[in-house]
Amino acid sequence: MSNRTFAIIKPDAVKNGNTGKVYDRIIQNNFKIISAKLLQMDMPKAEGFYAVHKERPFFKELTSFMTSGPCMVLALEKENAVQAWREAIGATNPKEAIEGTIRKEFATSIQENAVHGSDSDENAEKEIAFFFTKSEILTN
Ligand code: ATP
Ligand code: MG
Repeated sequence: MSNRTFAIIKPDAVKNGNTGKVYDRIIQNNFKIISAKLLQMDMPKAEGFYAVHKERPFFKELTSFMTSGPCMVLALEKENAVQAWREAIGATNPKEAIEGTIRKEFATSIQENAVHGSDSDENAEKEIAFFFTKSEILTN
């Protein structure tokens, strides 16, 4: 079990002024932020990040959305971080997200669903390395 996960505050949440509110939720849930930056993905970056979904019908729309404005990328640390962050964010579709989850509160659709969370320890490490160099990650 790894203690790290990767999160994105997606362009909808940044645009809607919810960056600070999502930060509060990260802190309330006792995650340690070990790296964070604001950036706007270009198309190759978004296509690379979501490469597993390239055959899905929503891929083009998804990559357009993810490049549509700035987002905040974060590396988070907590015991059993991947599962803990998935629980905090809730279901992909906000209609299915349970009360108290971040997506329930901030997502507006299945696509514009406010936040990302890694789905496995292996992907968490890959995704952190996709956005951060080693020296950008706090180690103490
Ligand atoms: P994420 O990987 O962003 O944390 P997730 O793991 O809950 O989300 P995935 O199945 O990995 O969900 O889908 C990746 C993203 O693609 C979703 O978060 C959402 O933005 C978008 N997406 C997923 N399903 C659909 C759909 N049916 N229509 C439009 N967009 C979708
Ligand atoms: Mg996913």
